[in-house]
Order: sequence, then C-alpha cells, then structure tokens
Amino acid sequence: MGAPEAFTAAFSSTAEVGHYLNGRAVPSTSGRRQPVYNPATGAVARHVALGSVDEVAAAVASAKAAFPAWADTPPIRRARVLNSFLQLLNQHRDTLAAMITAEHGKVFTDAQGEVTRAIDIVEFACGIPQLLKGDFTDQVSTGIDNWTLRQPLGVVAGITPFNFPCMVPMWMFPVALACGNSFVLKPSERDPSCSVFLADLLKQAGLPDGVFNVVQGDKVAVDALLSHPDVKAVSFVGSTPIAQYIYETGARHGKRVQALGGAKNHMVVMPDADIEQAVDGLIGAGYGSAGERCMAISVAVLVGDVADKVVPKLAERAKTLKIKNGMELDAEMGPVVTKQALERIEGYIGLGVEEGATLVVDGRGHKVKGHEAGFFTGGTLFDHVTPAMRIYREEIFGPVLSCVRVKDLAEAVALVNAHEFGNGVACYTSDGNVAREFARQVQIGMVGINVPIPVPMAWHGFGGWKRSLFGDMHAYGEEGVRFYTKQKSVMQRWPASIAKGAEFVMPTAK
Ligand code: NAD
Repeated sequence: MGAPEAFTAAFSSTAEVGHYLNGRAVPSTSGRRQPVYNPATGAVARHVALGSVDEVAAAVASAKAAFPAWADTPPIRRARVLNSFLQLLNQHRDTLAAMITAEHGKVFTDAQGEVTRAIDIVEFACGIPQLLKGDFTDQVSTGIDNWTLRQPLGVVAGITPFNFPCMVPMWMFPVALACGNSFVLKPSERDPSCSVFLADLLKQAGLPDGVFNVVQGDKVAVDALLSHPDVKAVSFVGSTPIAQYIYETGARHGKRVQALGGAKNHMVVMPDADIEQAVDGLIGAGYGSAGERCMAISVAVLVGDVADKVVPKLAERAKTLKIKNGMELDAEMGPVVTKQALERIEGYIGLGVEEGATLVVDGRGHKVKGHEAGFFTGGTLFDHVTPAMRIYREEIFGPVLSCVRVKDLAEAVALVNAHEFGNGVACYTSDGNVAREFARQVQIGMVGINVPIPVPMAWHGFGGWKRSLFGDMHAYGEEGVRFYTKQKSVMQRWPASIAKGAEFVMPTAK
C-alpha cells in the first residue's frame, strides 16, 4: 500500500518552485534554476528557482515593512495565529509527509514523524507569551523600580538543510514569529516544496503579509542574507564547513548567529546492555532515513566482549533491510537524496576498504526492482574501524555503520570526547552508575541513555557541542526564545521621589 493517493496526485506539479514574498507565491526573475529530483526514481520532478541578490532584498524589505506592526501585536494574539497554524498543520500532516518523501526520499512513516516533531515546536510556540514575561524589582532604590523585558530583534533569517525540510525550518520560525520577529527562510534547494506550502498555511492562519517570506536559492541568496544590513540574526543548520562560514561571515556583519553543523554520533554498548535492544537501537539509528540525520548513529563503540555478540546480529539485520520507494508503507529505508550523495557515500565505502576496515556488509550497487535509476544504496557495516581512518573521522551522511572495539568505559568516553563533532551520543547499559558517569563525563550536547536518537523535545532545546554548533544558543526551547529576543532593562521613578540637585557620583541604592 502506498501513501495517500489524493496527495500523490496533487503533488505531481512540474511547475518551478518559486519564492513567497509579502503574502503570495511569486515566480523568480533571476533566470537561474536547478532540478529537484524524485530520489526514488532518479527523475527530475520539477525545478527550483535560485534567488538573486535583488530577490533577497525584496524579501527582506517585505519582512522589514511588516515587522513594526507584528512586533506591536500582543503576544497572545500572535500565539493565536500560531494556534490556527497548528490546526492547519494537523489537517495537512500527511500532505506534508508525502511532500517530504517525494523530494527527500525518506520513508513516508519517518516523514510523518518529522512532521509531528515540527508540530511539537508550534505547540511550544503557542505558549511563548509565558516566556516573554520580564522580571520586576520593586524599590531597587527609594522611589525607583527596575524591570527587564525581552523585545524582538527585527528581520531574522533561517538557512536550512535538505534532511529535514519541514522540521528544521520549524525549529526556527514558530519561535521567531511568536517572539514578534519577521522571518526570511532560505530552504534547501534539494527539497524546496514544503517551504512554500508552509508559507501558505501561515497566511491561511491569519499571519499578516510580509511577516514570513521564503527565498529559494543557493550561495548567492545565502551571501545576500549574510551581508544585508536589515537582517538582525541568522539561524543556520547544515554541514560544519558551511556552519563555520555562516557564523564567521554573519558575525563580521554584526549579526547574532546560531549555526548548527555536522555530526558523527557514537553509540556505546556496554557488556551489561540488553543485546537485542542495543541491536535494534543501532539498526534504527544507523540506517533510518538512510543515515541522513544529524542525529544518526554512525559509530558503534563496542566495549569488552560485546562486539562478538553484536556484529553478527547487525550484519544479519543490515542485509535484510526493506529498501524501497519511501512511499511504500512497509519500507524501512528509502533512497538517498541525490546521485552526488550516492557517489560520495559509496566512495567512502571504497575508502574504508582501502584503509583496512573489515567490510562486513557491502551496500554498494543496491538496485530496487522497478526503480533502477533511483538513488539507492544498501545498508553497509564495517568492523575493526580505528580512529585514524577517514571513515571514522569524517561525516559520511549515509547508511554506513562503523564498529570500533574498545576495552572499557574509560576508553569509550575518551574516544567520543576526542572526536571533533559533539552533536549526539548514546550509551546502552543496565548499570545506573555507568549511565550517570557517562552522561556527566561525555563532551556532547545531547545524550541518550538507552535512547539511540535523543532529539530533545520542543521545550528543551536542540544543540551540539564542539564543531557541531557555532554560537551560544541552542535551537528552540527557552534558548530559542533568548536567541530571537534582546533584553531591555528599564529603571523608573516619578517626580515626587526625585531629590533636588545634580548628582555627580555613581548612583547607588538609597
Ligand atoms: P549544506 O551545508 O550543504 O547546506 C545547508 C544550507 O546551506 C542549504 O540551505 C544550502 O543551500 C546552503 N549552502 C550550501 N553551500 C553553501 C555555501 N557554499 N555558501 C552558502 N550557503 C551554502 O547541508 P545539507 O547537505 O543540506 O545538510 C546535511 C548536513 O546538515 C549534514 O552535515 C548534517 O549533519 C547537517 N545537519 C545538522 C543538524 C544539526 O542540528 N546539527 C541538523 C540537520 C542537518
């Protein structure tokens, strides 16, 4: 059985995916565009516009014009718009999921999970008025009160990756809008259709024109946003080299920047772990979404004698993954996003062999009947991988799981901590003290104890450490509210309490 047919028919549009400016979809005038593929068939499904500097300027101008009235709108009325948006998202969740599968390739049930996690953020954002409350101190000095408030920044921009075309933009804009900012989104050019669909739902929810805009594009649009003087903050999610570039360039232009980067997430399996549960965890987190998740597990750290029990079970499961068009509801793994991604991933597998790792399961050259031109690769499993190998050090971003054997917990923690990335990590154990010490000692932003993909819930905030995040604030949650607002302190007294005469000394409490 396939995903909802009504949607599949509706989403057969071959029209170019354009921008969304000032409350309406507009075609691009840049003259530049690139193909968007259906990864399951390998066919060009449509094209996406690549925005120009002028189109970015138009989006920023529209957001700037809409900002004052939106910032002045009482928080509860802004939240009501998000509440209407939430209802529309719930009505259209399967449409969005099918749209994700059609351009990204991940299986439909996984795409439904992505939409649900995106909706979680909107539910959180509906309650943001509570977090915009300031602090107040009565009588900081005789006749003087002091309070703080948080105000929106202005026009803020989001630049997002291909692997979560619905969820990652929604880590950003519901929070930014609830805080009173206006927004310009530059989505991934590989799966752009969700962005305009979401813009249209926001309009239907009653969001005033210009508060949310979308500019499709590539580096040209990104650079135009980074240097535009009216863009006050940039949220980025993507690969580490681009995250670092965004952080440095945005900061040089005086912007507030949070730039989330790549990952190499380890799962440590202790000898006392439940082996079946650990294997389930590794298979789902290693091969789910074809490994194209920033929280995917790409390294299994097998402690003591556990490797000899775990590796044969992993091999058996990796060989029998149901790899299909993601629209088939029993598919466990779909294709990867592009032919280039497929070549990069299979190139890494060749490199792993050259580097001396043991190739236990080789996913290269996997063909799916009826989808021979699709961007499919099988699940790959390496054993005896060492920290010196490039397949260990670099992010492959595909369904390739590397097993590293270590002698004890201390060696496992040292291995994880020495890696340049610090996004997510997991530890499977049945020993509470091991779990506690692991969580305390590990130098990673998000930790799972017997939880393979510990993506924090909407009100906890998402972010890695080390070269997985450039900037100070995590995405969404209270950190997101802080990122999208600036604090103001107001000190007030009234004429009746002002003593006569100029004061020349530093004022202190009287
Ligand atoms: P990417 O870095 O190639 O692209 C991300 C965004 O940057 C896109 O919008 C793209 O158009 C833009 N971009 C690409 N090259 C650019 C350049 N030279 N100059 C300016 N802008 C540029 O990432 P991707 O391939 O779309 O996504 C996968 C990567 O994202 C992986 O590394 C993954 O780990 C990471 N990711 C991280 C998180 C996280 O929360 N840390 C979440 C999702 C994905």
